[in-house]
Amino acid sequence: MLAVGSELTTGTTRDTNSGDLARELTALGVRVLRNVALPDDLAIATSAVAGGLADADLVVSTGGLGPTPDDLTREAIAAACGLEPRVDAGLLAGIEAMFTRRGVAMPEANTKQAWLINGALALPNAHGSAPGWWVERPDGQVIIALPGPPREMWPMWREHALPRLRSGRLGVERATHTLRLSGVGESALVALIGEDVLRASNPQVATYARADAVDVVVSAVADGRLSAQALVDETVSRLRTAVGEFIFADGDQTWADALGGRLDGRTLATVELGTAGQLQALLGGAPYLRFGELLADEDNVHHAGNDLGHYAERVREVGHADIGVGLLARQDKDTHVRIAIATADGTEEMSRVAFLAGDEGRRRAAIACAAALWSWLGNADVSQADIPTVRKA
Ligand code: AMP
Ligand code: MG
Repeated sequence: MLAVGSELTTGTTRDTNSGDLARELTALGVRVLRNVALPDDLAIATSAVAGGLADADLVVSTGGLGPTPDDLTREAIAAACGLEPRVDAGLLAGIEAMFTRRGVAMPEANTKQAWLINGALALPNAHGSAPGWWVERPDGQVIIALPGPPREMWPMWREHALPRLRSGRLGVERATHTLRLSGVGESALVALIGEDVLRASNPQVATYARADAVDVVVSAVADGRLSAQALVDETVSRLRTAVGEFIFADGDQTWADALGGRLDGRTLATVELGTAGQLQALLGGAPYLRFGELLADEDNVHHAGNDLGHYAERVREVGHADIGVGLLARQDKDTHVRIAIATADGTEEMSRVAFLAGDEGRRRAAIACAAALWSWLGNADVSQADIPTVRKA
């Protein structure tokens, strides 16, 4: 993966393209050997392309396809392949027509966007003037050059580059599944999952501490006996037995999604104090969140300590919601979290301690609140059968 542009090596712009594409390629079963950011320098870019071709079957670049002299990915690919670019008449006509539609003549500089080399196909760009390149080398290696701006890069990747890759011989079938866990640390997980499982290479089980969860990612390739998916399914079901109580979501589901599942059509109103709005930030535009209130005043935080249940009841009423949630965060070294959950049947309060203070503590307070609500919804569903009303506090 080559990301071309001095804005990336100077740190002015973050290279998001390489990581985003690497994730897709990995899912396709392609092993990504390296992600490299490169300046707008012909010699450096040329040696990076040559180095990629020396080690890999596929080289994917983003950026450096613009019309200006500093954009020189085409030049670098041509030089690494030892080929001379030539102007393709069809491409040139297409680019000229794009300018004509805007009522201006095509600047001479854009001519190089109509370049091709032997073995290269142009990948259409529906969102800009620069076509990409799909280059097949005589020994079957492939170079894909995509534009830098993500809004141009993604459609070209999805609509033109990816289908070509899929129909080719690259990659092996790989399956993955992510389990999202809360309420358990990474180190405790090692003991629950077992070091042997975490050390195995197929299926591979890896844990990642994220901001909002600990993710356990299971991935596998077919082993000749079982398909990749069957291997993943087998391990995931064993993990559900071992650590099921901590799993709140699957795949790329968020806390907002997980709560949506358990709310099952019920609506929510929230009031938060001392959190700088982190609960609303976490639940975002979830359709069940009918009303959200943020009280930032220091006096409110102290006052509400005794009265959080009433705050939750009031916000439930004001928001015309089924469930009112009050969240209060007070900080010293850590963040002390109070949570009140109000329904038509009564109000329950609970406390948690979120690790750390400051912004990080406030963010963790919101996650603790979401996790508490999620467990409460799970228990409430179970207990509803025999206890029609739940009243406490
Ligand atoms: P270029 O195609 O090199 O002229 O890039 C044009 C613009 O695309 C840059 O100024 C960036 O804003 C954006 N861009 C280029 N490369 C990347 C990248 N690797 N990741 C994210 N944005 C990028
Ligand atoms: Mg550039």
